[in-house]
Amino acid sequence: MIASTRKPRIAVLGSANIDWVCRVPRLPCPGETVQALSVSRYRGGKGANQAVAAARLGAEVSFFGRIGSDSFGETLLEGFEENGVEASAVERHPDSPTGTATIWVDEHGENAIVVAAGANGRVDRTYVDRHLARLAEFDALLLQFEIPTDTVAHVLRSLPPRRPLVVLDPAPAAALSGLCVDRIGCITPNEEELRTLSGARDIERGAKTLHDLGAELIVCTLGARGAAILSGGEPAVRVPSFPVAAVDSTAAGDAFAAALAVGLATSEVPDLERLVRRACAAGALATATPGAWPSLPSAKQVDELLGG
Ligand code: ADP
Repeated sequence: MIASTRKPRIAVLGSANIDWVCRVPRLPCPGETVQALSVSRYRGGKGANQAVAAARLGAEVSFFGRIGSDSFGETLLEGFEENGVEASAVERHPDSPTGTATIWVDEHGENAIVVAAGANGRVDRTYVDRHLARLAEFDALLLQFEIPTDTVAHVLRSLPPRRPLVVLDPAPAAALSGLCVDRIGCITPNEEELRTLSGARDIERGAKTLHDLGAELIVCTLGARGAAILSGGEPAVRVPSFPVAAVDSTAAGDAFAAALAVGLATSEVPDLERLVRRACAAGALATATPGAWPSLPSAKQVDELLGG
């Protein structure tokens, strides 16, 4: 792998939320009330999680998105500053509240999440147009689907053809129709998202469908089973996970996507298996601590888990 010594410059365009995490003995069924064992407040949102994850993994990161004119928004801005994430493009919406997510986590670390988009839903085409010139200057751009898909479609259409490298974490799953899929350098669905995006039951067929739409590289996350690299309709290359005592899988996918984006942005000729193994280490570490930001690992922690 040829790696540059310069810090990769990564932009994240996406959501920033306040997460309320309720630990529950088991996830409630429809119509049922379950008493929480505890409740905690964390900073989160897939976009913000990925920005903080990439910064902790050694990238120079800027976050692009919208928050409310409320104290939750303030809390997020303070968090970006504490984590060295540059946030000058973050706009405070006068009418929409900061996004929130309510997360239930059971004793096995399984979760269920309800997201209220708030100001994240106001990250629209005009926001992208105001910041497009800057977005185009980064090595990599991380996108997810917690802002309107129309906005994701617009930014993909508007970016220059080659740079930045676009990494899309298609979560929560949304239709890819109308998206310039061939402008996405790498897409990182979990198994369920890959099924929803492609309509195919098995991951290789699913990846073939996305590949036919123009996706260059598909890396499917498989939870405790690691990940699979699926490029160009070739057989899947499985990358094993790292055994950890998982307590909360929140942000595992975010740590994974951020680590992969940092790796891809750093390498001129990427050794994919090595980069995905590193992303699996970041994902595994993120499951070992409750909450989103508190669980996101540093480059040093990842190196240690990899045995370096
Ligand atoms: P998402 O949170 O998007 O559904 P996954 O649950 O697949 O994503 O997790 C992302 C990555 O984190 C996985 O590919 C894996 O490498 C790692 N990971 C997730 N859960 C575990 C676990 N229980 N043990 C070890 N690694 C895990």
